[in-house]
Formats: sequence, C-alpha cells, structure tokens
Amino acid sequence: MITIHPWPNAKDMAFSIRDDDLSFFTDSKMLERIYNKAWENGFKVSFSTIPNHKGTNNLNVPPNFRNSHNYYPIYKNTQLVEFLKQKIVEDKIDIMQHGYCHMKNVNLPELKFDLKSSTIITKNNEKFDLNKYSEFYGANADYIRTNIKEGKTILEKTFEIPIKVFVAPQEYLNKNMWQELLNNNLSYCGSFGIRSLKNVPINQINFINMFKVVYKNLINNFEEINDNKMFLTNLLTIPSEYSHSWNISSNSEKEHFNYFKDSIHNKLKSRGFLILLTHYYEYYYDWNEKITQKNLYKYFIKSLNYVNNNLDLWKCSVTELVSWISRIKQIHLKQKHNELIITSRFKLPGFTIKIHDDIGVENKFNVLEKNSFKYVIMDIKVGENRIVINN
Ligand SMILES: [Zn+2]
Repeated sequence: MITIHPWPNAKDMAFSIRDDDLSFFTDSKMLERIYNKAWENGFKVSFSTIPNHKGTNNLNVPPNFRNSHNYYPIYKNTQLVEFLKQKIVEDKIDIMQHGYCHMKNVNLPELKFDLKSSTIITKNNEKFDLNKYSEFYGANADYIRTNIKEGKTILEKTFEIPIKVFVAPQEYLNKNMWQELLNNNLSYCGSFGIRSLKNVPINQINFINMFKVVYKNLINNFEEINDNKMFLTNLLTIPSEYSHSWNISSNSEKEHFNYFKDSIHNKLKSRGFLILLTHYYEYYYDWNEKITQKNLYKYFIKSLNYVNNNLDLWKCSVTELVSWISRIKQIHLKQKHNELIITSRFKLPGFTIKIHDDIGVENKFNVLEKNSFKYVIMDIKVGENRIVINN
C-alpha cells in the first residue's frame, strides 16, 4: 500500500507557535527575550497582529495608554516593523491578522489576572462576558466588512507580504465575519467544531464532513476527527488546541507540563499538528520591563526543548501549515501498473509518500527508512509527477 504522508520531508508531526495581540504597543525587546532561544532552535513564531489597536482598558494595552480611546496603527511603531520585517526575511516569523482594533467598547469593566486563583476577574468582581471584549460583538455587517478588509490592507502594506490567516479577537466568530473571511481569502485559526457551525451561513457548510465528525465522535475515533473538523465549511479552520497562558500557578506547573506532553503525544499518534498559543505580554504582567511570570517562561522553554529533543518535527509557521494542509488535500494519487502518478496544482517541496509494503522505488528518489516504513521524499511540480515502482 502507498499513502500520502501528511507532512513534508517525512516529518512525524507539525508544530507552530502562535502569539496573540502583537500591536503598535509591542517593544521588540519583549519578543527577543521570549523567543531568542526558540529562533535559535529553528522554531517559527506566528504573530496574530492587531492592525490598528485601540487604547481601551484591555490588558493587552500598556497601562499608560489605557483608556486613551485613541487608535494606534502598527506602522507608527517603525522600530518594531523593521525588527519584524528582518525576522520575516530570516524566515523566523509570520504575520496573521488579529481583527482590526481588537476592542471598541470603552464601557466594559476592567479585567485583571488573579494570580492566586488563576482566573480572570474584574476590579469589583462583576460578572462579565469575554465575547463582549471583541470589537465584532454586536457590530453591524458594515463595520465587519470595512474593518476586516482595512485591517488586512494595513498589515499587507506594512509588512509587504500577503496575509492568509485570521485570528478573531476573543475567538468570537459570527456569520458576517465568516463571510468576510471567505471574501478576503482568509483561513481561520481558532477553536472550531460542530457547535461553531451556527456561526456559518448554511450554504457554506460541508454536510458530508459534518456527518463524518458526528459519526466519529460517536464511535470515539478521535484520530481523524481533526482532519474533518478543518473542512467543516468552505473555509479552512485550524485549531490551536494547547494554550500556554499566564495562569500556570506555581503548584500546577508540573501538571501543566504533563498536559503539554500528553497533547503532543496524542497529536503524534495521529500524525497531526499542534499550535502552541501564547501571549507575549502575559510574561511581563502588567507590562513590566522584565519578565515577571518566570514559570510561564521557564515552562515555555522547557516545552520547546522537550519537542526539539524528542520528536522529528516540521517546525512551521501557521500560514505555512494552512497552505500545506489545503494543498495536500487537493493532491491526486493514482497507481497504474508499475507507475505512481501524483497530480498537483501546486509546487510542493519535500512532498512525501509512505510505502507500507515491500515495494521498490526507482533509485533517483530520496528514500528514507523510519519506524519500519519507507518514505519517498520528492519535490512535486505542478501537473503530473511520475514514479516507477515495482511490486
Ligand atoms: Zn487578542
């Protein structure tokens, strides 16, 4: 049997880092301190970037800008933009779109991290709904259309790269937003499951995949669920299922690390991917000059070292991951006598097929033996690619 291996260069799984809330307010030194070691080890960081951050009372706004109610476009921080552009050239980072201004409403209660109870609270312990902290909550279709487009344009002009992935503020999504993502050729990175389908126009739902997910849920076949979950609609939706956040308290850090290891090994079993989600400013709570959340940093490095030393990973950006998944889904593999014909609409460097039996392959190909299988690694060109095999 011959199958398509999900990742390039016969890698066992894909791994990305997503950092949310980068904006005009970010000091590049904050990023260097957290990510230098990651970059040295070949990891890539995908920054979900706020194009025109509003000075509300949100914790992702530094205290001296809070409640200014002004807008701060990312390009006005020229030092940060130059730093990021250099990192793009070095292929160490990627820019995704994180809404437009993140939060618009200036009348919501101010939040704070309660480090003792590991929960988010308000100053007066009021009840609050985090969805309301999204600029798109309750917004009309016109606001959504204009600002998703405008945000994308700001980022594309600033960084001179195409923006392909959207991360919603507070991961809040509705039908109008979903439609605008489709109109702007953006994939969605965030939690997305059967329940999220209520936020999608009905004619855009892929019912076959929906039934497959429901069925596999019933029979507890979790291995393939993620694959179908990404294709529940006409827009690719990619989850980041592991959150490395501020509420690692000192007595639960070990549990947190074990949870990370479990998440990784579950994904490894199904040859899946893991996106580690974190927020740079949480390490400096509340916008201190130095890292204040030492455990958060310590376990971030520990997690990266663990995957780096124990697994054969494809370290990619979220944009690369999205692009690879959507392209590989469109590959046609056909076996005709002693020839394997792979048809692709895209170039795919490092494309890998997995050979389960004792099948020989002409020796011009790079064949890797690993985990008692043979992997043929090749650079796929647009159109037909042929491999001679002998059974
Ligand atoms: Zn955010």
